[in-house]
Amino acid sequence: MNKKEVQKEVKKDYKENNWYFKNISKKQLIFFIILYIIIFIIWFGAWFIIKSNMEYKKIEQEKIRKEQISKKKIDKINEEKKKIEDEKIKKEEEYLNYIKNVDLKTDSSLTKYVNNKIHYNKLWFVPTDLVPVEWKYIIDWKWWSIKVQKILKESLDNLAVDFFEATDNNIVVVSWYRGYKYQKWIKDRGCSDIFCAKAWYSEHQSGLAIDIYSASSKRNWVNDNNLREYYIWFDKNAYKYWFTNTYKKWIEIDWYGEEPWHWRYVWTKLANYLQENKITFAEFYNKKIEKNK
Ligand SMILES: [Zn+2]
Repeated sequence: MNKKEVQKEVKKDYKENNWYFKNISKKQLIFFIILYIIIFIIWFGAWFIIKSNMEYKKIEQEKIRKEQISKKKIDKINEEKKKIEDEKIKKEEEYLNYIKNVDLKTDSSLTKYVNNKIHYNKLWFVPTDLVPVEWKYIIDWKWWSIKVQKILKESLDNLAVDFFEATDNNIVVVSWYRGYKYQKWIKDRGCSDIFCAKAWYSEHQSGLAIDIYSASSKRNWVNDNNLREYYIWFDKNAYKYWFTNTYKKWIEIDWYGEEPWHWRYVWTKLANYLQENKITFAEFYNKKIEKNK
């Protein structure tokens, strides 16, 4: 055997003894390689599709989740809006009902309305419940003789405590209940119709009105730092104690000139109503008259 023959023999022997080369031709080998590539492509393709699908689902779910959250938020906002709206309507209804029932006519009513044309039914009307205003935080410049209706006094006591806390000052009451005779005396001394009601027509006759500090002129109140501070406090807070500043919009509306010192007790809901709607007692009266037409 020469060398070539030996090599041939070895090759043959090798093929016979290695099973995976047994009977495999070149063509078959290429076929298997292509088959593997195809299987790999299919596997990779399937993996890619499944993965993309999962990603897509995840994004979709996230989208849905976000939509649900924003929908919930919108629902909540709408619900709150509706609640506010309902409350507003309810309050308005309550007020309208209240306005309808407010007694502006009876002399003893806490909401008796008077102006230069509307007077008390009885010339000599005197409130039954008059008491002095004496109290730690209230100064009566008439030596403890000032009298007001008891219901006003009790509310004013509370107001005075808060006023003292805010300003470190007591409230000075310079005017109070004034009966027919007293009012007539004031008018006879020449007080003008712009600032003094005629006898029988004054809010002071109700025992539900007081003047504080200085019953002089608005100019005085504007120029005096203390008075200005007091007025601002009263304007912001007095309604909480059921007081209203009756004369603040001048003659055309209130029948009298502006009187920052004149505060009228009108009881709960009316004081709130006037404050919330930024209207005076006279405007309220006209509104009610309009409503009742
Ligand atoms: Zn007054």
